[in-house]
Amino acid sequence: MHVVIVGAGLIGTCTAWYLRQHGVDVTVIERADAPGMETSFANAGMLTPSMADPWNSPGTLRKLIKWLGREDAPMLLRLHAVPSLSRWGMAFLLNSSEERFRTNTLKNVALANYSLDLLRSLRADLSLNYDQMSAGTLRACRDQVSLDHAAGLAEFLKPHGVEYKVLDRDGVTRAEPALAPVAQRLVGGIHYSGDESGDAHLFCQALGKACAAAGVQFLFGQEVTDASRSGDQFILGTPGAKDIHADAVVLATGSYTPSLASKVGLRVPVRPVKGYSITVPRGDWRDGPRIPVADDHLHTAVTPLGDRIRVAGTAEFTGHDAALTPARIDNLFSLLEAIYPEFARRLDRPSAKPWCGFRPMSADGVPILGATRIPGLFVNTGQGHLGWTMAAGSGKAVADSIVGAPPELKIDDYSLARF
Ligand SMILES: Cc1cc2nc3c(=O)[nH]c(=O)nc-3n(C[C@H](O)[C@H](O)[C@H](O)COP(=O)(O)OP(=O)(O)OC[C@H]3O[C@@H](n4cnc5c(N)ncnc54)[C@H](O)[C@@H]3O)c2cc1C
Repeated sequence: MHVVIVGAGLIGTCTAWYLRQHGVDVTVIERADAPGMETSFANAGMLTPSMADPWNSPGTLRKLIKWLGREDAPMLLRLHAVPSLSRWGMAFLLNSSEERFRTNTLKNVALANYSLDLLRSLRADLSLNYDQMSAGTLRACRDQVSLDHAAGLAEFLKPHGVEYKVLDRDGVTRAEPALAPVAQRLVGGIHYSGDESGDAHLFCQALGKACAAAGVQFLFGQEVTDASRSGDQFILGTPGAKDIHADAVVLATGSYTPSLASKVGLRVPVRPVKGYSITVPRGDWRDGPRIPVADDHLHTAVTPLGDRIRVAGTAEFTGHDAALTPARIDNLFSLLEAIYPEFARRLDRPSAKPWCGFRPMSADGVPILGATRIPGLFVNTGQGHLGWTMAAGSGKAVADSIVGAPPELKIDDYSLARF
């Protein structure tokens, strides 16, 4: 069987690895020149089953309206994007009821835990290095309401494998001494000991190499612009190159999946949610952060990645507008200053690398995995803000479903058929 995977981000690369482990003949087509060059390039780097809750939580509509037009808003809806969101947006809001939010959170945490277990095995088996850390993650809270809310969610997730410890202010600064200068502004926090972190791009590169060594064929610099079926075969068209035939196809094209799927008449309810990051050299700040910190109030994460520090956050509904809006980048510097003021003040700003990417967000905040109504066509997308956390698990689950191996995850919970 020859399977073509379109897309070599975190999701496509992991799918390729596990499919090849089943002995399948795998080709990956990627429009960029290397794996992990788009949304998997400079994300916040956190692997967090502890934060498996979808973003369409109860109260989302109220918050979106409150934040309209605010460049410093954690979630910003640009009015020009509204028409492209109509049907998807209705489903997004409908899924923010308390009951659906809880059901969807549990689906996410099951996949996230499964994925992290697989990632640990992959790392050990292949000796992968991607500036990884297993120190857990720390959520810092600036008011009691958000601490109570986070503790409630953690308690809900505890029976599902999420370990956590609520910390008072002193506990937070013991876990991360670099937060001492802002300690008076914090009421406490939560340490999630099972979380991890690491650089997604380095991981994609390392796993891509392992895939190639195992016999996966990569076609870089080729964009699939057409897809059709002829008999039992798929034919994928890429400008300037020969058509590629496949027995089965996996769309691992992140937030671009809907347009490619529509070529074969399939509707995939995923929309891009833009986010930004800046990556700065740690410089001589040797006593700087030693654990990823998610600041609950500021909706920002600061993650140590080897000799670099990454600040990531914000969510913007603005279609695929790839502009690096200066106000949003400035906002990240301000957020860094609110968390690590001394470091931010002596930072050499031009050395910061700004970036933006598009989270592939499904209408209910749960990934879309596996077979579709078109025989031989599989999807692996919709991981949204958790694509790094869920990459290995999504890849293995979809690979298993393609070859008919006994499922280790209840993949039907993630099927496209639910929409
Ligand atoms: C600011 C930010 C912070 C984040 N932080 C975290 C985090 O801390 N933890 C976490 O778990 N997740 C995080 N995420 C989410 C995570 O990065 C994404 O969910 C994940 O990268 C999605 O991977 P992907 O492979 O589906 O998409 P991508 O990485 O976008 O890969 C899709 C690939 O398909 C290719 N492609 C698309 N169309 C075609 C075509 N027609 N032909 C050929 N190739 C094509 C693209 O070039 C791309 O390489 C964050 C995202 C952002 C934006």
